[in-house]
Amino acid sequence: MEGIAIEDGFPADRLFGQGFSYTYDDVIFLPHFIDFPADAVDLSTQLSRNIRLSTPCVSSPMDTVTETSMAVAMAALGGIAIVHYNNAASEQAAIVRSAKSRRVPFVSDPVFRSPSDQILSAEEFGSSPFVLLTESGSSKSKPVGLVWSVDWLNSPEKSAPLSSHMVALPPAVPSSYDFDQLAVYLSENEHNCVPTVSEESGEIVDVITEEDIGRIRRYPKLGLPSLGSDGRFLVGAAVGTREQDKERLQHLVKAGADVVILDSSQGNSSYQIEMIKHVKLNYPNLEVIGGNVVTAYQAQNLIQAGVDGLRVGMGSGSICTTQEVCAVGRGQATAVYKVASIAHQSGVPVIADGGISNSGHIVKALVLGASTVMMGSFLAGSTEAPGAYEYRDGRKVKKYRGMGSLEAMTKGSDARYLGDTLKLKIAQGVVGAVADKGSVLKFIPYTMQAVKQGFQDLGASSLPSAHSLLRNRVLRLEARTGAAQVEGGVHGLVSYEKKAF
Ligand code: 5GP
Repeated sequence: MEGIAIEDGFPADRLFGQGFSYTYDDVIFLPHFIDFPADAVDLSTQLSRNIRLSTPCVSSPMDTVTETSMAVAMAALGGIAIVHYNNAASEQAAIVRSAKSRRVPFVSDPVFRSPSDQILSAEEFGSSPFVLLTESGSSKSKPVGLVWSVDWLNSPEKSAPLSSHMVALPPAVPSSYDFDQLAVYLSENEHNCVPTVSEESGEIVDVITEEDIGRIRRYPKLGLPSLGSDGRFLVGAAVGTREQDKERLQHLVKAGADVVILDSSQGNSSYQIEMIKHVKLNYPNLEVIGGNVVTAYQAQNLIQAGVDGLRVGMGSGSICTTQEVCAVGRGQATAVYKVASIAHQSGVPVIADGGISNSGHIVKALVLGASTVMMGSFLAGSTEAPGAYEYRDGRKVKKYRGMGSLEAMTKGSDARYLGDTLKLKIAQGVVGAVADKGSVLKFIPYTMQAVKQGFQDLGASSLPSAHSLLRNRVLRLEARTGAAQVEGGVHGLVSYEKKAF
């Protein structure tokens, strides 16, 4: 169907060359021709020059989005997580190390106590079905047994030391065991749980229960996990571009980070170019992603400096106020198209960062030239995001905040928004909350299925095929009027329930 003869709609170069800053919602693709099933669509992609992913999803380096749980879940799904740096370098490195020491898609987060401790209320178990007893009660000392919360709850002796409810721990297995190996081990040995220990430190990493195995099995089948050449999960980390970030970088490299993202809201700066060169010179095997950029000129400068990937978006994030505060930025659809067009010429993959609130936005970002999408709000309500759920007006929500909000900057993230050099801090983000979405292990596979259906409607069986159909002017788009956008959403109903899966 290449070389379409009938003129209809706009090729991307014409639509995006008219002087408008288009968001994802402003544009719509015209359907093309289908000659394959949706399941035949291959969404595998490049995060950067040398990192391949089977799922084009990246979690944002934000302190309400990405720590260990998100990192292992995203890698298990075939995507990747970028650990935030709103903490001490040693803390960030510990998160990277902890994610890389696991091969299961979740963190069991056991509660540790010593055998002589007491537990006086059921709340002390938290959501964990057991507490782990070690000699000193810390995660670092020798494990001696565990107490199941049901055993404790059913016992009249609630004030007795925990040792009186203790059962022996089955022999531990290495934390490099993956999910399938653990499932087989538990069923073959008829254990109801098994501790996993780090081969490097000998410390307990997780205690995996039969219940965990059953829960993960009820989710859709996970795709090809993102693994490095060492067989461990791929994990990325964000760093700034200040002098002290060079020391942070050292910690991250030692912890095993596979890729670093230089985190700046305006990445086209002498600071960033210097940092790219520093990374390339000192860590030639480490992938470095630059940004953020939204123009061809910005992109060109960072490509010349040697980046392995580019992160695109300025002012498109759901919690972001940069365009309002600084009058700088670009509509995200235009930004992705313009940057991807230039980056493609140098073989540099593009991450479309921010502004994703549904699967249609992901289709638009990927077809307009991005190789992956980076998401904050889309993931922040998941069980894997840091923080506890709370109830607001009867709704179960989790906190989600911009890294340029005053609250986050007070904790240290002000370098990204250049606030550290100014005496007066100006916020470029807000603090809010997002609705509970359950586990990413469930909603990301469903979302990817929806993305495949979008690709099928466009006649694109893969990302490279979508990109070439777009560049060859086969795929056509239009800008949507306000009324067209209303028409494109649910409308005219007295009430409705929106359930995607
Ligand atoms: P979301 O997926 O929620 O729409 O956007 C997430 C993206 O917004 C992040 O990956 C990051 O690029 C950007 N971001 C995060 N915090 C802030 C902030 O406080 N201000 C601005 N301007 N952008 C932010």
